[in-house]
Amino acid sequence: MTSSIRVAIVGGGVAGASLLHALVKFPHLDVHIFESATEFKDAGMAFGLARNAQAALQLIGPSAVQCLERAGAVPMKGVRFMIAHGDAAGSLADETADAVPGKSLTSIVHRAPFLQELLADIPRDRMHASKKLEKVDQKNGPVTLYFTDGTTHECDILVGADGIHSTVRKLILGEDDAAAVPRNSGGWLLMTLQPFDKAQASLGQELVDIDNAREYSWIGQNAVLLHNILSNGEQVQFVIASNDTEVESAHLDHWQRNVGVDEIKKLFKDYPPPLNKAVDELLCNVPEHKALYLWEHPNARTYVSGPMCIMGDAAHSTTPWHGSGGGMSVEDSFILSTLLGRARTPSEALTALKAYDRVRRPRTQRIVESSRATGEMLMGRHAETGLDPKKFRSFCARWDFIIEIDMEKHRDEALQIMEAGLKGEDTIL
Ligand SMILES: Cc1cc2nc3c(=O)[nH]c(=O)nc-3n(C[C@H](O)[C@H](O)[C@H](O)COP(=O)(O)OP(=O)(O)OC[C@H]3O[C@@H](n4cnc5c(N)ncnc54)[C@H](O)[C@@H]3O)c2cc1C
Repeated sequence: MTSSIRVAIVGGGVAGASLLHALVKFPHLDVHIFESATEFKDAGMAFGLARNAQAALQLIGPSAVQCLERAGAVPMKGVRFMIAHGDAAGSLADETADAVPGKSLTSIVHRAPFLQELLADIPRDRMHASKKLEKVDQKNGPVTLYFTDGTTHECDILVGADGIHSTVRKLILGEDDAAAVPRNSGGWLLMTLQPFDKAQASLGQELVDIDNAREYSWIGQNAVLLHNILSNGEQVQFVIASNDTEVESAHLDHWQRNVGVDEIKKLFKDYPPPLNKAVDELLCNVPEHKALYLWEHPNARTYVSGPMCIMGDAAHSTTPWHGSGGGMSVEDSFILSTLLGRARTPSEALTALKAYDRVRRPRTQRIVESSRATGEMLMGRHAETGLDPKKFRSFCARWDFIIEIDMEKHRDEALQIMEAGLKGEDTIL
């Protein structure tokens, strides 16, 4: 017999919103989402959702794929990695093959409209803004959530989709666990959005071409420059990044950094034209920019404790070099929603969470680790690759385990683990 299972999602970013979108179709799940901000609105930048995330959206259902399309996602034909410094400046390091027909390698989308689309058809009585989770009370049974405004909510399952500073992660791991909080990678990044015509005038038609839309990453010396097209071809995202060795070695607790024009000019002065010209024209017209330091989570020993679990950045915040943080969130939503959809009682839902942890933790932690090394390579800092184009010949293969995953097989593996747990065949579950 199926009884209603009360699910509370804390955090209304891409992870929480995509999970809610996937869960509302199950009539036996009574799902509510709680967001600390005054409204459900993503202030973050654009991101790429690669083929693996697109497959997860497809399996969540046609409405999820439509969200991507309606948000103005621009499918990239491919990604090119170029050497931008030294003897080989201007040469191609590696590139992905053109997209599989009907399935782009990656689609670039603005987070804000994507989030709006994911939440567009959700009944408003399921969505609760201005609800910041403070603590929980859970003793052998339902979980009571306590919010900072003094209100409470009771549920059977609590999903922490509350981002890099996750409260639920600390509840699951314990405040004393070193993995409960993120660490600074030392990398910093700043991003501007430019009108298509202006970016094309600076970078040239070959690099900024809506009919042959590609993402470019230009590998320099302790620097990387990246550009891609979004918003149905109306905007170009122009990103620069570098590494702050002082912050990296001292593990400083900085989240933001001002980057002056002189520093930018110094980092990119040896980049070949038209890149150095574009940096001048697009970034050097104001005295300084605000950059973000790039943080990541150390590996957690678990994503689950009893009726509580974490997903998205709350579980596996990562440096952005694999462009996979949002994609992992969407994958989490697909697997977790499938398992919770299969659960018939609150007790079965506990087994669903354990199966989720079993399949998702190894994959997502591998991506976080690989992203760190990929960042070193992209900034020309990796001892093995340096700035030698020959050493980058199989660079794109670093993405294979992320992109080429068979999502249906991944789901089936999760379901099998859950079934074994429900039958008592898997004693760990
Ligand atoms: C520079 C950069 C580039 C990136 N590029 C890519 C890319 O190309 N491709 C890609 O896939 N990913 C990329 N990412 C990663 C991606 O943006 C994130 O992984 C993704 O947005 C995480 O979504 P989330 O919902 O888990 O977290 P968030 O978006 O942080 O959402 C968490 C939500 O929880 C709320 N919250 C927090 N605490 C509480 C609380 N106590 N109570 C209630 N609510 C709470 C917050 O207000 C927030 O709305 C990039 C990230 C960065 C920093």
